[in-house]
Amino acid sequence: MTNDYRFEFRPYQRRFLRSLTTNHGKWDIREGIILRLTDESGKLGWGEIAPINWFGSETLEQALDFCRQLPGEITDEIIFSIPDELPACQFGFESAWEWGSGGDNFMTPNSSLLYSALLPAGEAALNQWESLWQQGYRTFKWKIGVDAIADELKIFESLIHTLPASTKLRLDANAGLSYEEANLWLRTCDNLKANPEVPIEIEFIEQPLPVEQFQGMLELSTSYETAIALDESVATLRQLAACHKQGWRGIFVVKPGIVGSPSRLRKFCYQHQIDTVFSSVFETAIARLAALQLAAELSQNNRAIGFGIDHFFEQEETWFQSLWNDL
Ligand code: MG
Repeated sequence: MTNDYRFEFRPYQRRFLRSLTTNHGKWDIREGIILRLTDESGKLGWGEIAPINWFGSETLEQALDFCRQLPGEITDEIIFSIPDELPACQFGFESAWEWGSGGDNFMTPNSSLLYSALLPAGEAALNQWESLWQQGYRTFKWKIGVDAIADELKIFESLIHTLPASTKLRLDANAGLSYEEANLWLRTCDNLKANPEVPIEIEFIEQPLPVEQFQGMLELSTSYETAIALDESVATLRQLAACHKQGWRGIFVVKPGIVGSPSRLRKFCYQHQIDTVFSSVFETAIARLAALQLAAELSQNNRAIGFGIDHFFEQEETWFQSLWNDL
């Protein structure tokens, strides 16, 4: 039996309060698509397509083209046969389907999830961790590979001596280090681990090298105590499965918003019991709810999830109502 859903969509734009700086450059406006499915009984399901093309998903334009060519009424079959080239669409449509009448999986995410807060890049991190600490965050992520390594090592030195004991710190290079620089960061972190005067924990270094240098990261992951997490290398489920197949047994950062089909992600995680860190793609509350749902179901090892990003946006109620004027 197939079900029919009325399908509507609206593009959106949200400006970051401060631009987000990574090794990929600056990001000022988050653009995406909110979609709505209405089943035959009138039940609504909300979904969001929030692509990040420079991270490995389809472009916003490709996602819009896909939405525009669909009829006003769609079926389960259409929802579950979106091609792998459109992973953010797979996530948006399938999660709208689960939200509405389709799935038994949808529930309120487990509130015991721990959150990691994203610090601003560079020296600004030294001024912002404290207000985030006061909000309850105990795990932080700091971007590296943005400035010269000597400058970043200096800021890092200050940061580790400023952060309170028992803080966990993640370093995210966004594929921006050379092999030598990655070795230097990993050696520095291993030395800290051995130093009893440093009471904080470096949890992992994220994506030190470019995606093409998988073998290099595999090698580094066995050469140092400090763990490595893959992120850009595992942006989509297809890449994630390929890295697992090639022997990656470190941490996998999973960005539900762009990884692809939630049902296939569940299947993969249950089957292989991988060590995951669930993470935001700067989505709105709609994709966030679906992503947190997956994080609550699939997170292993009690790792903090990378959704501590509220301080990058204004509160969102008003823009959402202006998108959908029949609410
Ligand atoms: Mg990352």
